[in-house]
Parts: sequence; C-alpha cells; structure tokens
Amino acid sequence: MSKEKSVKASEKSKPISKPETVESKAKPVTKPVVTESKAQPAAKPVATENKVKPATKTAVTESKAKPVTKTAVTESKAEPVKKAPAKKDVTAEIKAEEANAAEATAKASSKAKPAAKATKKSPSAKPTKAAVEKAPAVESAKAVEESAPVEAAPTEEHYTSPRRSVAFIGSECYPFVKTGGLGDVMYALPKALVKQNCDVKVILPRYKCIPWEYQEKMVYRGSFQMDLCADGRSFYVGIMEYVWDGVVYDFIDNEEFFSDGNPYTNLVDDIPKYCYFAKAALAALNYMDWIPDIIHCHDWQSALVPVYLRTQFVNTKLTTAKTILTIHNLRFQGIYNIPTIRYWSGLPDHVFNKDVLKVKYKDANMLKGGLAYANIITTVSQTYAGEIQSAYYGETLDAHLRYHSRKLRGIVNGIDYDIWNPDTDDRLHENYNITNVLDKKKENKRQLQEELGLVKDDHKFVIGLISRLTNQKGLDLVTSILPQVMDGHTQVVVLGTGDRNYEDAFRYYEHTYKGDVCSSIMYDETRAHRIYAGADALLVPSRFEPCGLTQLIAMHYGTVPIVRETGGLKDTVEPYNMYFNTGNGFTFDRYEAGLLLDAINRAKTLYFENRWCWDEMVQRDMDKDLSWEKSAKQYKDLYLDLTR
Ligand code: ADP
Repeated sequence: MSKEKSVKASEKSKPISKPETVESKAKPVTKPVVTESKAQPAAKPVATENKVKPATKTAVTESKAKPVTKTAVTESKAEPVKKAPAKKDVTAEIKAEEANAAEATAKASSKAKPAAKATKKSPSAKPTKAAVEKAPAVESAKAVEESAPVEAAPTEEHYTSPRRSVAFIGSECYPFVKTGGLGDVMYALPKALVKQNCDVKVILPRYKCIPWEYQEKMVYRGSFQMDLCADGRSFYVGIMEYVWDGVVYDFIDNEEFFSDGNPYTNLVDDIPKYCYFAKAALAALNYMDWIPDIIHCHDWQSALVPVYLRTQFVNTKLTTAKTILTIHNLRFQGIYNIPTIRYWSGLPDHVFNKDVLKVKYKDANMLKGGLAYANIITTVSQTYAGEIQSAYYGETLDAHLRYHSRKLRGIVNGIDYDIWNPDTDDRLHENYNITNVLDKKKENKRQLQEELGLVKDDHKFVIGLISRLTNQKGLDLVTSILPQVMDGHTQVVVLGTGDRNYEDAFRYYEHTYKGDVCSSIMYDETRAHRIYAGADALLVPSRFEPCGLTQLIAMHYGTVPIVRETGGLKDTVEPYNMYFNTGNGFTFDRYEAGLLLDAINRAKTLYFENRWCWDEMVQRDMDKDLSWEKSAKQYKDLYLDLTR
C-alpha cells in the first residue's frame, strides 16, 4: 500500500480555520454536508511519462554504483530447505485459470531467460555495508535458528493437517516496518500458519528504517546478481535471514532501492523498487533452492510475482508453486506509464495487454497484472470481496475482478493475541481481563486522561479514533459532526497522521474543546495501546474498509466499536439489539454524517442510561473470538485445495 509516511514527529496544536460542521442535531440528516459520494480513483501516478524516463534512474544508479564486493558474492550456497511434494491433482477451477495464464505465457516462455543468474557485469551491484561485514562471520542460518526463541506450541492441526510450505511476499511486516494493517497481517498470519502445520518463509525488503535491534540479528544467507531491466541491467540481491517464532524472515538486501527513511516514498521511486522486489523475491527462493507449495503475495507491491512466475520463471523449479494474491486495500494499485514499468520489470511485451497489465491507453497497473495471473485472489473480508466487484468500491478494477470472480475469496483478518492482550500488554497502566475489566478499564481511562491532558472524570464517555487520517477513513463525517458530539459529557481522543486538512481540523478541535479533545498527530504504538484500553468506544466510520483491525483490537480490549457497515466492519461488528441485548457495537449504513451522529448518540444513550447492558456488551466483546486461528485454518484449507 502506498500509504503516507508512517512516522511523524508530534506537532504542537495550533488554532486554524474552523472546519465545516453539520448543523443538524442527533437525528439522521438526509443530506450530509461534507460527504463525497464516490470513492477516489485508484492510486494515480504522481509523475507523467515525460517526467520519468527510465533513463533518468539509470543515470542516477550508475553514478552510485560500486564494483561488486567479492566477499558478498562468493559465499557458499545456502542449504536447500525443503522440496515441495509433487503436485499433480489440482481443482478444475485452478486448471482453468492456469490454462488462461499458460496461453498468455506461451510466447514468453520461449524467450524466457534464467531468472537469477550470476553475472560479472554488475554496474549496479551494491550490497549494504552490514551484509558485507557480516558475511565472513556467519556460518549458516542454522546458527540463528538455534538462538531463536522457542516455537509456539503446536495445535491439533499441526499434527493432523498435511504440511505445506508457503512463501509470504509483502512490503511490510510488524515489528520490522509497519504503516498499517498489512504490517500486522504479515506478522500474525505466518505465525498462525506455523501452528497449522505450515512451513513459512516471509520475504521482505530490507529497508534501512528497520530498527537496528533487528538488523543486527540478521544473518547473511547469500547474494547474487539478477537481471532486471529491459536492457539487461543487473542488480545485486542479498539475502539476510532472521528466524523468529518458527517463522523464517528473509530480507532482500539492496541499498540502492531500500535506503529511504520510509518504505513508501513516491511512485517514481516505488515502481522500480517493487519491480525489483517482486523479481528478487522469486530469484532468492530459486537461489536458496526453497521451492514452496504456495507463494502468497500481498497488495500491489508484490503483485508482479505471479506475472514473473508465469513468464520469466516458467522454466525454473518454482513454476510448480501455486500463487495467491491477497488484496488488503484495492485503492493502491501501482499504476504508471507502460514504458517505465516495461523497462524496470523487463517483462515481455504481451503482458502489457488490456487483460493483464494495461489500463486506459498508456498505463500499466501492477495489481491488475497480478490478479490476472494469480491462481487465487483473496481479500480480507467476505463483504469487501463482494463490494469490490461493484463500480463504487471497485477502484476501476471492478470489471476485471468480476471477470476473475471465480477465483476470488474473502477471509477475514484476526488479531495476534500475543501482541494484543489486555491481560499481558506491558504498555498499559493496568492489565485486565474479562473478570475485572469494569474496574480496571476505569483506571486505564483515568491514566489516559491524565497523560493526554484531559479533564479527569470517570463519568465522561471517552471516544477513541486511531487511524490513518485519509479520505478512506470517513474523517470528513467525524470533523463535520464533532461539535454536536461535544456535549460536556464526552471526550474525544484522536491518534493518527495523514492528510493535512484532517490533521489541522483535529488540531483545531483540540484547541476549541481544550480538556475534552486530544489530537495526537503522530504515529505512536504505545499511545495506541493505551487508547484501546482507556477509551469507552472506538470510532471507525470508514468510507470503505477491506477488513479493519482497529475495531477488532478495540473489542478485544473491551472498547465498544462504532462503525459504518462496510467491508470487514460489517462482517465483524454485530449491531447492538436493544430488545435482545445482543451485539458488539453500534453501526450505521449509508455514508452520511447524520447517521454517524445517530450511532454515537445511541451508544451514549446506552452508556449513560443503561450501564448494565453496556457493561455486558463490553464483556461480550472481550469474549468474542477474534484470534487468527479460524482464519489461518481457512487459508490452510485454501492451500490444501490448491495443492491437492
Ligand atoms: P489500515 O491498514 O487501513 O491503516 P487497519 O485498521 O487495518 O487500517 O490497521 C491499522 C493498524 O495501524 C492498527 O494496528 C492500528 O492500531 C495502527 N495504527 C494506525 N494509526 C496509528 C497511529 N497513529 N499510531 C499507532 N498505531 C496506529
């Protein structure tokens, strides 16, 4: 996901121009004041064709290039890990998909070059200093495995379900680098799959911004030169390994591509970066002779993997692997002009046709290509899987998704109970569980109020909002009704960074409602944990939401979600039913400010007038199974289906 920068320094609040507000009272209004009816178009290239020519980057990289360091290139070959079992029977559905892909790749395969070959012409070779320094010292990856923490306890599935090997390829992963939900999933799902008897390798870029505490534990696993661009330019690919909780993390090392302070910068740099990453990830698997049953890719940054696999890697051992592409957020697609993507990816001309990568007249869409070539497409909730096939949510790919709907599935995300557990969370002032939540949550609320400079009052209804501050998250609804929410008995706590207009609007409200509104315009994990624990309710009024993790975390912390019924929010939050006293939160359907205000008012009414029922909902939420176990099992079943 090409998200905004994840880490921003905290800025002082300052008064700014007042945002527009909805004048209506608690009742639903028929027309929202600040409501855009259409989702924004998919991530647009920031520069035009003439601005960025392949040649520009070439010039830059060549001037930086250093000669290949012998130490880095001449290490012993990594041990082969595990071979994939022969796979002959696949479902009819998958066969059909492959027939399509095969047709498209037939031409390419004759031209296909070996993916990663050692070469001496290496103008762009550039191992990181650490890789070179570490190389001689490292015996083998086994050393790390020995020193790694003990693996998680195996579940029953671990023994009864057949073993499968899976390579996860994605652009971010907690705790190394995270800008949003993708980072959480890339960490938690592999861990959960290990318990389902999967052998998992996670392949990530080795960004310079990964904290040193992890960098220093990485072990050099090997390196080679890889042809990438259309003109045959080759690049250094280093593999640095880290084993943790039974999962092997292999970081693709190349200082030239991954030395920015943030994973995502701008498309001018990100397009070459993720063309390189997709190909290098496959080349690294080949190099390590680790042939997985499944290659599971995530979002546009690794969407070219299935395309490479069925074109340039078709004559390698990897070709037996099945591919899954998971859409975590359809808004980000990796679109750029065809000449640039063609140059950097080095992919054959025929994939730049309208059924695969081409969009409009002159652009290529990396996600679209991956969707065409993947054996299975998943997205992170059932509802979102349906929504994205409509024009409103489809981000211009709805027709393409409808065409591939036979291979589209929705599997909802979970949360990692090791990280998100109020009973053991060491970032909290007071730990708690379902038996003492009512008392201890009050204590967390008091501490939160004190820490954030709010009026200390147990009786105030505290609403939290933890979010990227972007157009997706429904913040225009929030900023337009906030004055009506501020009734003297309510406090609002915002944590997030993003678009300037939202950051300024929340700063304005902090200034206007001093003591009752706190806007933390920053990215801060500890503060996030404390808000989940100290708030009474959490707001997620998204315009669209593939799954959403914040409402899941909130429920697990006994914080009642107030959400819009879209995507994963609809699938995970059952609306409160006052007659049967059931449900997990408060919901509204249409994207209208008045309906959000109405949902907040219903929550307040229950909180202030029927605390008994509110408290029961708090406990119900904490009791809900939101772990990864169920979803990991669904993924495992999918892997088994694909590789029967
Ligand atoms: P998205 O992936 O669209 O950003 P999700 O709800 O799926 O949204 O995931 C958001 C994740 O990022 C959650 O773990 C949330 O706690 C975290 N997060 C979002 N903003 C911040 C922030 N400013 N500080 C700390 N954590 C944040």
